[in-house]
Amino acid sequence: MMKAKERKADKLLFVLSVDTEEEFDWEGGFPQENCSVDNIRYLPEFHQFCESLNIRPTYMVDYPVASTAESAAIIKDILARGNAEVGAHLHPWCTPPIEGPNTERESHVINLPAKLIRRKLEVLLAAIEDNIGVRPTVFRTGRWGIDGKVLQILIDYGFKVDSSVYPYYSNQYFSCRDACDQPYWPNLAKPNYPGTQRKIFELPITSGFNRPDFPFWEKVHARISSPGLQTVRLVGLAWHTQMLRKLFLSPELTTAGDMIALVKAAIASGSPVIHMFLHSSTLLEKPGEYNQNNIRRRELYASVRSVIEYLSTTGSVEFCTLTEAAARMESKS
Ligand SMILES: [Zn+2]
Repeated sequence: MMKAKERKADKLLFVLSVDTEEEFDWEGGFPQENCSVDNIRYLPEFHQFCESLNIRPTYMVDYPVASTAESAAIIKDILARGNAEVGAHLHPWCTPPIEGPNTERESHVINLPAKLIRRKLEVLLAAIEDNIGVRPTVFRTGRWGIDGKVLQILIDYGFKVDSSVYPYYSNQYFSCRDACDQPYWPNLAKPNYPGTQRKIFELPITSGFNRPDFPFWEKVHARISSPGLQTVRLVGLAWHTQMLRKLFLSPELTTAGDMIALVKAAIASGSPVIHMFLHSSTLLEKPGEYNQNNIRRRELYASVRSVIEYLSTTGSVEFCTLTEAAARMESKS
């Protein structure tokens, strides 16, 4: 009995989050209306594929998908199968009310005024509740990144789990570079770090390197990436020789071999949850920001399957939605 219990406690959790959103050409700016959600037609096939591997996906649904009758009905049908979860995903540029500038900066939720975020969130939640029939409690910002202001808004609207942290990445509009890469209770004053509040839990996606001890290798990577001293060559050399690769657990960005290397290193680093992510728009098989390699559905499925097959060789894996994974983690922290 004891042994069985211990094994259960040590189970590795696997979650897959899918940003379930409109497809668009990123070259053409951020579309504010008449968004196309054709890609959602491929979601039932995708979900069936997930079912075949026991994956319990969390579909982070945004406003164009939730407010279009056909796509909302598809999500509702998937949800009725009892092995998925619907979360909320806020693309500020195409969620009413549409106002203010529409540049790269404002495409990141954290850069909007709190009042506007609240209004947009209300519209998004109403669309999901009215058309899909659930009140989501998990959330992801459009284009990643989180701050204390947004976390407080999420708490006010009853959210329990955020998944906007993208460890080891930053750009000029947000930074998750030094963010905690394990599930944690974020400090509202410094959301990249753990704190004492117990209202909203953070489930970052799995990112890191092809070697264990990600915070250490991030320092090395930052040093060889910093301006000066032929640095481009050093980062390229590290990548090509496989000495050091910065990797993100998505079949859109990363080959199956590299995803497995990342998962191996994450497990060796003690990660209790493996969190893969992708975008529904990739199912459309059109090149775009999230599908620069123009990956085909068949290739995408093969790539995900390889990772799951690898995981099954490591011992016992439990497939969870984000809420289920957070519940297991919260009880340990
Ligand atoms: Zn998105």
